Formats: sequence, structure tokens, C-alpha cells
Amino acid sequence: MDFFNSLIAETYSLIDGLDKKSFDFEMSDAWQDVGYNEVILQRDTAFELEGVGFNLITTAPVNDEIVVIGEDLSHIYGNRKFTRVCVIELEETEDQQKTYNLIRKVEYTKYHVFPKGYMIRTTSRSHKEAVRVSGKAVKDGISFKKIGNLLIKKYKENPAVKGVKVIFVTDAGADFKHFEEIARKNNDITETLNHIMNSVNFDCDTCKLKPICDEVEGMKELHFKTSGKKED
Ligand code: SF4
Repeated sequence: MDFFNSLIAETYSLIDGLDKKSFDFEMSDAWQDVGYNEVILQRDTAFELEGVGFNLITTAPVNDEIVVIGEDLSHIYGNRKFTRVCVIELEETEDQQKTYNLIRKVEYTKYHVFPKGYMIRTTSRSHKEAVRVSGKAVKDGISFKKIGNLLIKKYKENPAVKGVKVIFVTDAGADFKHFEEIARKNNDITETLNHIMNSVNFDCDTCKLKPICDEVEGMKELHFKTSGKKED
């Protein structure tokens, strides 16, 4: 189920020419997870990040890595645009339903990460992501490397997750509109996948998801396969 590979290629080409720092995954250097949704009040806030955050799933090899493009958390002095992308390698399986269930499970992980002093607000139906960072966390040395280590650690608690690359972008010169476009396409493909895996009845001529099926290779075939219907 490699429906997201073209979006991964698009993401990589988007960050290709930008200055970046790269860090290996170090489990022991993960930022603290408080285990609950911590509320950071305005008066305790150093700055806010606002943009999109999304996961791109693949069965192609992905090295555990954190990539930072632009200023790190210790060098941000006002509210900023940002993007967070996690490219996640899942183990390959022949069973489409099992793979689909895994994708959903991995997607839910992001709602169960609660970094100390880093309040994430996101919703399941959109890829919008806003982060409020506390002044105390900045003082205590919070960094994208440490947040990335925590995210990778959490994703890898699922043994089916083989590799995770976390990309943070705060560079004002980055094409944030394009990242939003990739996030939107990712959402469209995910919704189409949900429809395909949960619905046996279909009519391609009237289906509102047809543009996605026409664009993403293998999607239509998957719906025919899961429904047991033969293509005309
Ligand atoms: S295969 Fe046809 S019915 Fe199924 S999601 Fe695609 S366009 Fe819609």
C-alpha cells in the first residue's frame, strides 16, 4: 500500500535545496513526555508555531533521522509558520486490511505524544498543527532534535514501524503553501482509503473520490479487490 510515495518524493524535492541540519535518532535524548495534555497559558508562552503536521506512510526503507530546516526552538523569538512531516516505514504485509489497520493505528500515535512545555493542537480531519512552546521549556533546553527523538520513540513502540524520519521546517524562505498542498493531498488519499476499506458498494461514475482514484495508481484496483467486484 504505497499510495503516499509520490507525496514523499514531492516533500523531499521541496526540502532539497534548503539548508538543513540532520540528527541521528537517540532514544536516550528524547524530550520528556508528561503523559497528558498539558495546558500552557498565554502568560507562560514563549512563542507559537502554526502550520501543518502530517505523516506519510510507506513500505520503502526510511532511516531514523531528525531533519531541521530553519531556526531551532532555542532561536525562535516570535510566532512562526512551521511544518512537521513524519515519513514512516511500515513493515510490508500481503494482507491489505492488516496494512490499513496498521496505518490507522500509527496515525493515532500522534494524539498520544505530550512533550513537556510543547502543547500540540491538531485535529483528526485536518492536517493543521499548532504548537505552543513554554518559556520554561526553552530555558530547559527544548530542541527539535529532542522532540523528534520523542516522536520516533513513540512511533517505534509499534513493532511494525521500521523507520521514522521527522522533518521540522521553520525557515521563512520555505514554500509553506506547497507543504499545505501536500498535506491536503495526503488527507484526500487517506479519506479515499477509508472509503475503500469500509465500503463494499460503489459507483465510480458518481463517486466524489474519483479524481483521487484517477490520480493515485492502484487505488481503484484496491476498491475492486476489497469489494470482490470485477472491473468492467
Ligand atoms: S474505486 Fe470508484 S467508487 Fe471506489 S473510491 Fe474510487 S472512484 Fe470511488
